[in-house]
Amino acid sequence: MKYAEVAVNSPIAQRRSFCYSIPPRLTVDVGQAVWVPFGAKVLQGIVVKLSDYPSVEDTKEISGLITSSPLLFPDQVELALWLSKHYLAPLFDAVALMLPPGFERRLVTFLQLLSYPVDLSQLNSEQRQVIQFLEDKGKVSLRELGRKLGKRKAEMITQQLLRRRLVAKSQQLEAIKIKPRVVPYLKLQIERDRVETEIVQLRAARAYKQAAVVEFLAKQSQPVTLAELRKAIACQRAVIKSLENSGLVSVVGVEVRRDPLAYLRVASMGLPNLTPSQEVVWQKIRNSLAQRGRNRSPLVFLLYGVTGSGKTEIYLRALAEVIAQGKRGICLVPEIALTIQTIERFASRFPGRVAVIHSGLSLGEQFDEWHRIREGGCDVVIGPRSALFAPQPDLELIVIDEEHEWTYKQSDKSPRYHAREVAVKLAELSGAVVILGSATPDVETFYRGQRGEYQLIELKERITPRGLSPLPEVEVVDLRDELKAGNRSLFSRSLSRAMAAALAHHEQVILFLNRRGMATFIQCRDCGFVLNCQHCSSALTYHLAAKKLICHHCHYSCQLPQVCPQCRSERLKFQGIGTQRVEEETKRFFPQARVLRWDRDVTSRRQAHQELLAKFRAHEADILIGTQMIAKGLDLPQVTLAGVISADSGLNLPDFRAGERTFQLLCQVAGRAGRGLVAGRAIIQTYSPEHYAIRAASGHDYLAFYAQELNYRRQFGYPPFSQLARFIFSHTNAVTCRKEAERLSQLLTAERDRRGMPDLRLIGPVPAFVPRLRGYYQWQMILCGTALAEFLNDMTFPQGWIVDIDPVGVV
Ligand code: ADP
Ligand code: ZN
Ligand code: ZN
Repeated sequence: MKYAEVAVNSPIAQRRSFCYSIPPRLTVDVGQAVWVPFGAKVLQGIVVKLSDYPSVEDTKEISGLITSSPLLFPDQVELALWLSKHYLAPLFDAVALMLPPGFERRLVTFLQLLSYPVDLSQLNSEQRQVIQFLEDKGKVSLRELGRKLGKRKAEMITQQLLRRRLVAKSQQLEAIKIKPRVVPYLKLQIERDRVETEIVQLRAARAYKQAAVVEFLAKQSQPVTLAELRKAIACQRAVIKSLENSGLVSVVGVEVRRDPLAYLRVASMGLPNLTPSQEVVWQKIRNSLAQRGRNRSPLVFLLYGVTGSGKTEIYLRALAEVIAQGKRGICLVPEIALTIQTIERFASRFPGRVAVIHSGLSLGEQFDEWHRIREGGCDVVIGPRSALFAPQPDLELIVIDEEHEWTYKQSDKSPRYHAREVAVKLAELSGAVVILGSATPDVETFYRGQRGEYQLIELKERITPRGLSPLPEVEVVDLRDELKAGNRSLFSRSLSRAMAAALAHHEQVILFLNRRGMATFIQCRDCGFVLNCQHCSSALTYHLAAKKLICHHCHYSCQLPQVCPQCRSERLKFQGIGTQRVEEETKRFFPQARVLRWDRDVTSRRQAHQELLAKFRAHEADILIGTQMIAKGLDLPQVTLAGVISADSGLNLPDFRAGERTFQLLCQVAGRAGRGLVAGRAIIQTYSPEHYAIRAASGHDYLAFYAQELNYRRQFGYPPFSQLARFIFSHTNAVTCRKEAERLSQLLTAERDRRGMPDLRLIGPVPAFVPRLRGYYQWQMILCGTALAEFLNDMTFPQGWIVDIDPVGVV
């Protein structure tokens, strides 16, 4: 007898796998999807291990196969086991990352008559009704019965009939929700020479629309889709139906692949010759790629190079090399919408061989892409963090562009994994090479680079159409001096002069505002009352366009009150700066300039990013205003001035990564300017010009920043000198929430002392930075230490707690 360890799709299963025996009639492999009995139900599971001996005394049998061959590669199964262990995540959550979209399904309960005919004499009228319904329909789901009779009644009558042994229950999987997309095509069913006669006859019968359809189809050399036909001739479905019935036209469903790249206009580009620095870097990567298997070293490269230094070109080379060997790659980007230009470059270098996976795609598109990738149809998979789990066969290269970005960490749901860590693990398992690229590497990554865990490779110069060029000059403006000089506008004298000059030369300007969170809130001048959300404790933001106050956490909105709710004063004042306010002020100062605003409000539509970007690149606007989104990845050659309205908002957050985050953002913004023919400059406005993050950013000096930041981290025992775990609990009742937080804190402290691990520090419990969110109070604590993994590994946490291992933010 053989046994299988199975990750079961049930919330009860948690981090465990369950042992089942394999009946002789089934062939089961690791990675295969199976049905298993679990309690009273039959559930989905994925086989994670096979063995000759059971791990428990009593085993049940696997009930059947869901798929005839494995869905996960063995490396992926290993990766899932690691993910579950490292991030303390339920095993099935980890496995689910790698399953085809739409895989998870539920069982549906059906009712059916046990014998026929039924003796109705003993039954009441409602029971009879159900019996008759079953007679008519055969098998009926409990759900459908519920819709007919009401849920309660359906259940009650079902119970009665079951007791009388008139009906039987059975369970089946709910239907697959996504199927390959089928598009209806129209075809003329008659010979050409009969077309004229048919048209005449149809017209005679006053079926003008039908005649028009036949006429249209006769002119086409190929079958046309129903949609195309309807574009040409507005007609009802009934018109087509009649033509089908009379045998003139047939409608055939044709399966099509949904192509998410379809909207991209891809122009093929030539291969540039590498610059000397690129050549050095490339040789190192090539040597590693030339070695075989898991012992290759180094496995992980950290490609450190300023924006525009040619990192993407290196990724493309490495991929081309891998493809030439008959292998494949995955490339992660922080956010699809912001990296369209990068994707276009990949698509043009490897036409038709690129898959783009991301959540913006319809489920059907994701389903199609998953299968195309699994069958080896794509040389490169591009996407955000989840693309790491694409079923890419013969994986040889993983690229993570902008590796320092926080979007690589999944924080909002389990498993709360960091794609960078997972990529390194996957490479260890599969023997793939990893390239991490960044202009401002994560301090922890750079630290590993310095210690030789990763190989640090560097590109020092920027490549521009003018040749190699220095980074833009950065000026730091002290906003306190502006106040002293009586300038209360958003623009310092220096920034407004520079803007005027750029506009006069027909050059473009971008204005950057650090995070939308510091948008306009409303405060009473008399009592200081701030208008807060009713459900969250955070300030409501005023949205000019909607003329409403909106909560950015829960989307609660309300009208602007006339008077202060606390003291009834009418002197309500707008505080803070939002992108809308910057836009207004810009228009006031530079009425002749054409202004575009780019933030989540404007760009909630799926392709709005590209439209905005295209517009700005075509110089249909002079000034682009935005939040951090405009700082990322964009190549805007006509921009010569980048202005940071305020660098401070992020600095004051109670988070040990605040400095790093601010430094990264400022470098990105400054790097936006001067990428074209004209050199650029950047102006950073701040109230704290002395802060090391701002000073280092103004000198484009990563190493200076790194040195200071590392010192600070060492001093306070933060990563990379320790590991963190964040514990969050939320509850509608404030007291319950606090008590539960205190309870776990005591449990953890006691456990730490029992095990004698004094270097583990517990910070908190405290109310979270946003103490109340969507009506839930939130408390949190941070556990910090070097042997954290060991400590947490065999612990279980009470219901309701979220545990975030290696959190990227602690507020
Ligand atoms: P990064 O990814 O570091 O921001 P890119 O690879 O995008 O840098 O390169 C910046 C610009 O320089 C791009 O427009 C790119 O096409 C161009 N470029 C990169 N490498 C070369 C090269 N070897 N020769 C000419 N142009 C290059
Ligand atoms: Zn007031
Ligand atoms: Zn709210």
